Amino acid sequence: MPQLSGFETHEVLNQSPRYEDVDLFTSDVALREAVAANGAGGAEDELATFGRHWGSAETFAIGRLANENPPKLHAFDDKGHRRDTVEYHPAYHRLMRDSIAAGLHGSTWTESGERAAPPAEVMRAARFYMAAQVETGHLCPLTMTRAALAALAAAPDLVAECAPKIVTRDYDGDFRPWWEKSTITLGMGMTEKQGGTDVRANTTTATPAGEAYSLVGHKWFLSAPMSDAFLVLAQAPGGLTCFLVPRFRPDGSVNAIHLQRLKDKLGNRSNASSEVEFANASAWRVGDEGSGVRTILQMVQMTRVDCAMASAGLMRMALAQARHHTRYRTVFQKKLCDQPLMRSVLADLALDLEGAIAFVMRLARALDRSNDDMREAAYARLLTPAAKYWICKLAPAFIYEAMECLGGNGYVEESLLPRLYREAPVNAIWEGSGNVMCLDVLRALRRKEESDLAASLARECAVSLASGPDALGNEAAARSLTEKLARMASAEALKASAPAEITSAFVETRLLAPRGAFYGSAHIDAATIALLLDRILPPA
Ligand SMILES: Cc1cc2nc3c(=O)[nH]c(=O)nc-3n(C[C@H](O)[C@H](O)[C@H](O)COP(=O)(O)OP(=O)(O)OC[C@H]3O[C@@H](n4cnc5c(N)ncnc54)[C@H](O)[C@@H]3O)c2cc1C
Repeated sequence: MPQLSGFETHEVLNQSPRYEDVDLFTSDVALREAVAANGAGGAEDELATFGRHWGSAETFAIGRLANENPPKLHAFDDKGHRRDTVEYHPAYHRLMRDSIAAGLHGSTWTESGERAAPPAEVMRAARFYMAAQVETGHLCPLTMTRAALAALAAAPDLVAECAPKIVTRDYDGDFRPWWEKSTITLGMGMTEKQGGTDVRANTTTATPAGEAYSLVGHKWFLSAPMSDAFLVLAQAPGGLTCFLVPRFRPDGSVNAIHLQRLKDKLGNRSNASSEVEFANASAWRVGDEGSGVRTILQMVQMTRVDCAMASAGLMRMALAQARHHTRYRTVFQKKLCDQPLMRSVLADLALDLEGAIAFVMRLARALDRSNDDMREAAYARLLTPAAKYWICKLAPAFIYEAMECLGGNGYVEESLLPRLYREAPVNAIWEGSGNVMCLDVLRALRRKEESDLAASLARECAVSLASGPDALGNEAAARSLTEKLARMASAEALKASAPAEITSAFVETRLLAPRGAFYGSAHIDAATIALLLDRILPPA
C-alpha cells in the first residue's frame, strides 16, 4: 500500500520567527530613555531582569493559557448551598504570583500606608507597562489593590490593618479570611444598573449595625470578585458613603456578597467581572458619611493612570510584533520594512507610541513628586484624565493598524494581535469613560495651578490651548481641548527624554499640521523615519 502521509508538500518560507524570548526592557529604547529621564536611571539591570522574564516564551504561553481558560463562577454547590466563588486557571494564579512578587500591587506604598520614596512610581510604571504587553487581564486586581490605599487613607485604622498586607509580596489566591493571609488584594464596586458615571444615583443602602454597617443592594460591575475586600459606595443615612466590604466577616463566616453572573466580555477574558448582590453584607465605613465620592475618587485617580499605562503597553507589543514581522517578510523582492509606504506607517505608529510612553512615565514622576511639590501635584490632577483619554483612545486604532502590518497572520488567534485588539477598548471605558475624562480636564482647568500649567505647556509648544473666551465652559468642545492638552504634554515629555528630531516630528505632525485620518499619512522626513524605526527594536 502507498504511504498516504509522511511527506512534505512544501517548505514554510518567508515568515518571521516567533517574537518571544526577548528582553522587553533592553530592547525598548524609548522606555529606557523615559525611565532614565524620570529619575530611575540606575535601575536598568533590575528592569532588564523583569523584561526578560515577561518576554520569555514561557510567560507568553502562560498569558495565552490564562485567556483561553477563562474564570468559572461557582454560585452554588451540588446541594444548593451558596458558594459564591470563582475558579481561575493555574496560569492566572501564576501571573498573579509573578506580578505580586514584583510589587505591581503595592510597591508604591510603605507598610504604614505612606507613599514610597521616588522613583517607586516610575519603577512600577515601567514594570506595569512591560507586564501589560504580555497579559493585561490579571492587572485589574493589581491596579485596584495598589490604588485602594489612596481611598483607605480616610480610615487610618483600616490603613493600619491593610497596608502591611498590601505591601507584602507572597500571592495567596485561597478563599480564606483576609487576616489569615500574608498578602491581600482589594477590588472596587461603584457601578450599578441605573448609573455608573452618575454614582450619586446608587441605590444600595447602608444601615448602621453596631460598629459596622449592613449593605443591601447590588453592583452591576464588580471585577476581580475573589479579591479579599472591596471599596464600595452605598447610601448611608448621611448620604453616599465609601465602605470596605470584606469577603469574610470578622466572625469567620462568608460575607453576604452573592455573585450572580460573570460578564461575557469582548476581551479581558482572564479577568472575571461579576454582577453581585449584597444581602445584608457587613461593611466598615471609610471616611465620613456623605463623602463617598470624594473618598473613592482618590482611588480612581490612580487606576486611571494605570489604564493609560496598560494601553501604552498594548500598543508597544502590537508595534514590536509589526516591526519584527516586517523585517523578515519579503514582498515583491523587497523586505516589507524597506518598502517606503510601510516605513511611513510604522514610523507614524512609532511616533504616537514615543509620545505615549514619554507622557505616562512623566506622569509617574509627577505621582512620585506630588507629595512635596505643588506643581507636580497639579500636573497629576490635570494630566491624569488627559492621559487616560488620549492614550486609551489611541490604542484600538493603533493596534488595528499594527495588526494589518502582519497581513492575514495578524488576524488569527495564534498571533497575539487579536487579544491585544480585544483588550484595548476597555481601558477607555472603565474608570470613567472618554467624555467623563474630558469634562474632568475642563473642571481641572478652572483651578489656577492647573490653568497656569496648561498655559506654560502651550507656550512651550508655541500653540494656543483653546480659543474663544468661553473655551473652558464649552463642554461640547472638551474633547478637542483634552486631545490638544495631551499632545502638548507628550511633546513636553518627549523633549526631556527623546532625541530632538522625534520631538520636532511629534510637534509638527500632532500639533501644528495634524496628519490624515489613518496612520502613514503624516509627513515625516526620511531621516526621522529611519530613526523612529531603529528605535522600535534593536537590529535583528
Ligand atoms: C470589563 C469591565 C469591568 C468593570 N469593572 C468594574 C468594577 O470592578 N467596579 C466598578 O465599579 N465598575 C466597573 N466597571 C464599570 C465601568 O466603570 C463603567 O461601565 C463606566 O464607568 C461607565 O459607566 P456606565 O457603564 O454606567 O455608563 P454611563 O455612565 O451610562 O455612560 C455612558 C456614556 O456616556 C458618557 N457620559 C457620561 N456622562 C456624560 C456627560 N455629562 N456628558 C457627555 N457624555 C457623558 C460616558 O463617557 C459614556 O461614554 C467595569 C466595566 C467594564 C466594561
